[in-house]
Amino acid sequence: MILNISPSPEEEKALLSEEDALSARPVQIVVAHEDDHAFELDEAALERILLQEHVRDLNVVVVSVAGAFRKGKSFLLDFMLRFMYNQTSCSWLGGHEEPLTGFTWRGGCERETTGILAWSDVFVVDKPDGSRVAVLLIDTQGAFDSQSTIKDCATLFALSTMTSSVQVYNLSQNVQEDDLQHLQVCVCMRTLMFLIRDWSYPYEHPYGLDGGKSFLEKRLQVKQNQHEELQNVRKHIHSCFSNIGCFLLPHPGLKVATNPNFDGRLTDIDDDFKTELVNLVPILLSPKNLVEKEIGGSKVTCRDLVQYFKAYMKIYQG
Ligand code: GDP
Ligand code: MG
Repeated sequence: MILNISPSPEEEKALLSEEDALSARPVQIVVAHEDDHAFELDEAALERILLQEHVRDLNVVVVSVAGAFRKGKSFLLDFMLRFMYNQTSCSWLGGHEEPLTGFTWRGGCERETTGILAWSDVFVVDKPDGSRVAVLLIDTQGAFDSQSTIKDCATLFALSTMTSSVQVYNLSQNVQEDDLQHLQVCVCMRTLMFLIRDWSYPYEHPYGLDGGKSFLEKRLQVKQNQHEELQNVRKHIHSCFSNIGCFLLPHPGLKVATNPNFDGRLTDIDDDFKTELVNLVPILLSPKNLVEKEIGGSKVTCRDLVQYFKAYMKIYQG
């Protein structure tokens, strides 16, 4: 008698997805070489992610978090991952003592590379309208400071904005004039969400989306007595994004900000922060709020996105 030890198709599928889950990690898809101001797309890496059989023909939702280093982007993205992996559970935020993993603290003190990272797992989500979409999470890391020129950062920012359907612009404490300048290179896009970390004026504008709205309206106001350049930046931003939002997030507490042994566990994070996080993440990622990437008015698939990435890279290299 010959024993049939090869796995059934179902078992094979389960094994494969287990392998996927185990190997899920951030993958650098765009590298910025700061010395010669050049950007490089890792086409093979991008294709490995977007041309996976189960997602390549689905319309894609690309949620990007962009901004300077050390401002809590990976920390936020890790909670976004928890949400995506535990969609159906109301306790998606995780266990109290559970260390936070994903984009965070990989490689310890290794110098971080400027560029765009993608999460290797593309999530398949059924929207309430019956359509099925693929969700890609990306992290756009720039130096966004004096050592690299504003133009480089703006280019990187534009690249991730053009390839994403929702751009979350992660800023610390306030919106500064040069934060707005980074948006100057952007062409018309759908959704831009300013995310202000460590918001310390809740008595002026309360935490969350409503406070963010009133704060941003004030900040993006075009005034007669403003310098022309400042007026133009504001007009440009208004004309570029059909949907601009802002969310004010409280400070997560001293352990998060300063304790070198902090591993992301919920017990060490301030309650106010967790409360707002539970509001924020579903605004970006719950099935009914997912925004498909559109180019020229049509939705694009994962497969199309690969081509657009290549085309946009050419524009910015040229
Ligand atoms: P990234 O470089 O923008 O990805 O930042 P990380 O997510 O790696 O976080 C950098 C540091 O900031 C870590 O020590 C985090 O614990 C801490 N951190 C995370 N979120 C926040 C926040 O909202 N406010 C402050 N002050 N620190 C944060
Ligand atoms: Mg990071």
